[in-house]
Amino acid sequence: MEISLVIPLYNEEAVVPELISRTIGSLEKIKKDFELIIVDDGSSDKTLELLKYYRKKDKRIKILQLSRNFGHQAAYTAGMEKAKGSFVGLMDGDLQDPPELFADMYALLSEDKADVIYGKRTGKITFKGRSVLTHWFHKGFKRLSGLEGIEHVGNFSMMNRTALMAMLAFSEKTRYLPGIRRFIGFRQEFVEYKRKERNIGRSKMKMGQLISLSSDAIFSFSKVPIKICLYLGLIGVIVFFIAGIYTIIAKIAGFAVLGWSSTLLSIFFLGSIQLTFMGVLGEYIYRIHKESQNRPLFLVKDFYS
Ligand code: UDP
Ligand code: MG
Repeated sequence: MEISLVIPLYNEEAVVPELISRTIGSLEKIKKDFELIIVDDGSSDKTLELLKYYRKKDKRIKILQLSRNFGHQAAYTAGMEKAKGSFVGLMDGDLQDPPELFADMYALLSEDKADVIYGKRTGKITFKGRSVLTHWFHKGFKRLSGLEGIEHVGNFSMMNRTALMAMLAFSEKTRYLPGIRRFIGFRQEFVEYKRKERNIGRSKMKMGQLISLSSDAIFSFSKVPIKICLYLGLIGVIVFFIAGIYTIIAKIAGFAVLGWSSTLLSIFFLGSIQLTFMGVLGEYIYRIHKESQNRPLFLVKDFYS
């Protein structure tokens, strides 16, 4: 098998026909020897039925049906584990990323010019709705993680088997695949493209899921949140040490006043800082807890291979 393409789908019945024809069309131009691993992430609409229908006509379409919705990072991981190709591509199923670009990625990989090629989104950012948040996330994440070449980069990519095996060696439950892909190293190159708005169907990532994906990314690739706690804590220690000395001197010298405002302010200040720190610690403990539970990332119901 030369190429495997992994696509996660969750309630995408509206996209399936165009997705299949465009993707197969562009892969066929590269190599006839490929497989399309479509992961059905617990869809409740006609996605699976449609996929089975297209599979009857073309057995290169393989369907990995998960037992329920596990989220798209888990769905990608499930598909990557099944991929047999020497080169493995990842692409969202909503055609925001052009499958035609795999030709360029494959060319670079098969000439052994790189181990990973990722798509980098260019062009003007349309400042409306989610794209603003995504833009800020990418800016912030780049600084917080210290990873290079992570800005405006998503799952859209292709890699060789070596890089794939490296990515699959990461068993962490808190997963941010673009971060992991960058973290593995090897030779990485990118191709630029303009990312389209989604024009079929609606986004399947709820706002809550997006926020939790961003915080997973930050907490698993950055120690900045815990460092902020430490530094603020140290500043607090210094400030209150000085204040403490002042208080003692005031008491001894006899000019201590009835300190209602300063008492209240310190209580508020300390109280809110402590609560925030406990929240940050909680985020880490929650993730440690998830790792130690060691539950499977996904469960497979059926694999039409
Ligand atoms: N997806 C999935 N499981 C989910 C949510 C999304 O498999 O729980 C798939 C979805 O069908 C699409 C891809 O992941 O193929 C990216 O999702 P979407 O386009 O909704 O995310 P966005 O581009 O808005 O971040
Ligand atoms: Mg999308």
